[in-house]
Amino acid sequence: MILDNECVFCKIISGELSSNKVYEDESVLAFEDANPQMPHHVLLIPKEHYASVADGVPEVLLGKLLAAAPKVAQICGIDQTGYRICINTGDDARQTVHHLHLHLLGGAKMPINMGAVD
Ligand code: AMP
Ligand code: ZN
Repeated sequence: MILDNECVFCKIISGELSSNKVYEDESVLAFEDANPQMPHHVLLIPKEHYASVADGVPEVLLGKLLAAAPKVAQICGIDQTGYRICINTGDDARQTVHHLHLHLLGGAKMPINMGAVD
């Protein structure tokens, strides 16, 4: 299965749902989070459906996803000031969308107690 009909991020990949796209390559799509926790809050997703980072994602694809983050940071203009990358995995981490995604957060000094995104 490449895309999941029930998955909100798969619907963004297919174009059924709109998003504010920031970056795209052959394997990765990045778009603005609908509920931003920082001035810049972008989600990076693989263009194939994997429920989480623990869902047997090919290592090459994980590498492409992570490698896209500094490119997105540069596009956002936060590559010099810094940013946080976060991957919520499972219930205790409060993962709400079960399509692997990497949060990229920046644009201001991170609150001291902001250890996660929910
Ligand atoms: P997580 O809690 O790590 O699963 O994060 C899911 C993120 O997806 C949250 O930050 C939501 O604000 C974001 N989100 C959910 N639906 C959409 C959407 N249609 N477009 C953009 N961001 C979304
Ligand atoms: Zn999906």
